Amino acid sequence: MSTTSQHKNEVRVRAAPSPTGRVHVGTLRTFLYDYLLAKKYNGSNILRVEDTDEKRKVVRGTEAIIEVMKLFGIDYDEGPHVGGDYGPYIQTERKSLYNKYAEELVSKGHAYHCFCAEERLQKLRDSQIEAKKPPGYDRKCRSISPEDAAEMKKAGKPYVIRLKVPLEGTTVFHDEVLGDVKFKNSNVIDPILLKSDGLPTYHLAVVVDDFLMKITHVLRGLEWLPSAPIHKLLYEYFEWDMPKFVHLSLILNPDGKGKLSKRKGALPAVSYLRKGYLPEAMNNYFALIGWAPRPNEANEDDVYTMAELIERFDIDRLHKQPGRFDPKKFDAISGKHIRRLDSKELVEKVLYWAKNYVLTEFITDGIDEMPEWEGDIKNKVKRYLPLWEADLDFFEKALSLVHERLIYFSEIPELLAYLYNKTLVWTDNDWKLQDHSKAEVASALGGMLEVFGQLYITEKVSHEKWESAIRGYADKIGWKHGEVFMALRSAVTGKLQSPPLFESFEILGWEKTKKHIEDAIRWLRS
Ligand code: GLU
Repeated sequence: MSTTSQHKNEVRVRAAPSPTGRVHVGTLRTFLYDYLLAKKYNGSNILRVEDTDEKRKVVRGTEAIIEVMKLFGIDYDEGPHVGGDYGPYIQTERKSLYNKYAEELVSKGHAYHCFCAEERLQKLRDSQIEAKKPPGYDRKCRSISPEDAAEMKKAGKPYVIRLKVPLEGTTVFHDEVLGDVKFKNSNVIDPILLKSDGLPTYHLAVVVDDFLMKITHVLRGLEWLPSAPIHKLLYEYFEWDMPKFVHLSLILNPDGKGKLSKRKGALPAVSYLRKGYLPEAMNNYFALIGWAPRPNEANEDDVYTMAELIERFDIDRLHKQPGRFDPKKFDAISGKHIRRLDSKELVEKVLYWAKNYVLTEFITDGIDEMPEWEGDIKNKVKRYLPLWEADLDFFEKALSLVHERLIYFSEIPELLAYLYNKTLVWTDNDWKLQDHSKAEVASALGGMLEVFGQLYITEKVSHEKWESAIRGYADKIGWKHGEVFMALRSAVTGKLQSPPLFESFEILGWEKTKKHIEDAIRWLRS
């Protein structure tokens, strides 16, 4: 019995998330690969929500998943809201159809009813733990005759349905990337397929739905590999063709040790957006953690648009080996995407970021705790956004000062603060005084004010003019050029590091530059 044949030519890929919390970047990468494969072959990308585990399910988890997919431009052709020919696409809404399949396996002799009560199973687990034996069901009900089982069922005894895994031999599972993987059957202990409340477990639901939805390719995280022999047996017992399976390599922590953890940088996908990474940069970078284009199709700078990813993606280029999350490479790619924008696009994207990522509440925000820094960014954006928007030409010029060095957008409020604040606030750490006292720096700044003032009266001051005037002044008072630049930088930008100094003067204009310097002198003397 095979119904996949009529769809032989169509690639049908599914994302099958469980709505258990915020969507992290590993999950995002799986969604992305699904999408890339479907698009590459003009196939269909399907979203199916696997919500049969009531204990792990969270309120609005499904909506949060859909939200994240939208934010990253990962469309699906069939799924919740959009519908399709194979719905419903939420497993709890499909509840009534699984029983039949579980019973079919029972009647074929590949599954059995298990009447063990929870207390018995708990005792069994306790005794196994005490005896330091691996935990697992002792297959007690496997020996109940079908007639006795039917009687007990009739009498209303609660039951689950378990898969009858062969007691000996091996199950060989073929993975498109990993090749053949062998599992010892005796290690796979009769998993539950249908629970006593009639809901299927993951194993039954995933196989039945992938079959009914005519899925051709299953891409999923490596953590699902231990389930693979169960699924293989199910396909065999149902006599269904198996889709092609790909277990995706792990994403490791930056130090290469262990699976990428929250503690070492795995943020929910939306947190990266808030931080100001472009979604296209994230898709680009995360695609490259477990996959690479063919060498002749590789772009030298590692920058790929979604269209380029679709064109180049294929299963045979997925990595077998785990990949490290490399924050430096991520930042570099992020910066390169920003550099690709022209100055108008940059303004647009920054405003979009501020309004739609920072100041917007996401559904997923209600699910998990939000990191504290997200609140800080929100406060800064609240403060500066109206100022940015009040003069878009000025904002464009201001951004041009930092365009070449930006890594993510949440750097912007601080980097440009001196252009927007009437009065700056200094601490001792904002000055590099070296061999000079505060009073000396104050008087040097006073001298510079005079030089600048004269310069300004005579002509419109260009970057070159400011600079040569300052160098001349440094020579006159016998300071190193660097020392004078540093003092001026601290005075005008409030920071030791800032966008280019003289371009900043140009944009600020004389009046504001003067005001910052005067305030600095006052602060240094106080
Ligand atoms: N529901 C599983 C998850 O949450 C899907 C595993 C699969 O793709 O088969 O990741």
